[in-house]
Amino acid sequence: MSAKEYFYKPDWTPKDAGKEFAVRIVKAKESGENPVKIEVEFKSGKPETSDIISGILRGNRNYLARAITLIESNSQKHRPVANAIIRGLLPNGGKSLRIGITGIPGAGKSTLIETLGLYLISLGHKVAVLAIDPSSSISRGSILGDKTRMEKLSREPNCFIRPSPSSGTLGGVTRKSRETILACEAAGYDVIIIETVGVGQSEITVRSMVDFFLLVLIAGGGDELQGIKKGIIEIADAIVINKADGDNIQRSNMAKAEYTNAVHYIAPATQGWQTSVMTCSALVGSGVTELWQNVLDFEKSTKSSGFFQKRRKNQALDWMLTLVEEEIKNHFYNSADIKEILPHVKKEVIEGKKLPTEAAEELLKRFYSGNQA
Ligand code: GDP
Repeated sequence: MSAKEYFYKPDWTPKDAGKEFAVRIVKAKESGENPVKIEVEFKSGKPETSDIISGILRGNRNYLARAITLIESNSQKHRPVANAIIRGLLPNGGKSLRIGITGIPGAGKSTLIETLGLYLISLGHKVAVLAIDPSSSISRGSILGDKTRMEKLSREPNCFIRPSPSSGTLGGVTRKSRETILACEAAGYDVIIIETVGVGQSEITVRSMVDFFLLVLIAGGGDELQGIKKGIIEIADAIVINKADGDNIQRSNMAKAEYTNAVHYIAPATQGWQTSVMTCSALVGSGVTELWQNVLDFEKSTKSSGFFQKRRKNQALDWMLTLVEEEIKNHFYNSADIKEILPHVKKEVIEGKKLPTEAAEELLKRFYSGNQA
């Protein structure tokens, strides 16, 4: 297969489904690998919502995939079913350890997730790997879209890997990912790893839905990257310098010393937890046990201080408010009145004929007058 993009149709889609059901674009490597085909166990036909819920609770991956497909749909008509599924699963959610992983492309995130994931499965865990990539049009399939990544892990029955939703605003992607986390938890996955590319706003979003946030760096990543890192370091619970193998061990240890020093000057991301700095080699597998131990130490410490639970509660509130804000925004931009006058008002602002404050006032006035009836 050539390295071109195409839409990957999920294992199951409703009848007459269009592109709203495309799981994102797979960019195959030049290796000639074909995308992995997921076996479908269930019979064709339309399962009831209750079948999907009970299937997920039994840990059936196909039903889980179906539910996520509905959750990810950009079409409003699938929302009621997706909502009903989420409602049914909700009492069984929340029981996992949610881990966010970020780092620039090439830092070794997927290699690390594969090594860590295989290790966790060997310990008896069930691992789900999800991706958040709102910039999919920019990174062009670099994140989990490439099905040749995490090949060994993807073959494990106790692992569920889901590429990022096909499209949408960060808000939309966030809603989908939060619901997907719940669905995976209800299916018995007790470690959920959420991967994001360290290039922008998405880290903050991932931080708002995970318990532990890991930043993957490499030694000598270049000064030009420090700007990006600084902000992200502030939200990381651990920094791991990856690729600490071969000739690179010494440089990685030096980087570790530098970052250990640097984190002392930054307020910790999690109250009562000193951001840890480690080295590892995802390729060789060294440092991965220590990395997991660090996650466990974090869990123990934050659960005993109560911060773990407090953060989860705040995240739930944050989720609710995000949904409200999103809904209000949608309502605003989809209103016929706003659609009618927005292009003109924008033009006036661009041409300097109207002040932004005046323009905003005009838009809001129009919106409210149209919504009073
Ligand atoms: P991602 O873009 O952050 O997901 O990075 P990948 O996991 O795709 O890794 C990018 C490249 O770095 C690949 O060629 C990997 O084989 C290599 N790589 C990843 N981890 C290590 C490591 O620990 N040591 C070495 N030497 N190479 C690594």
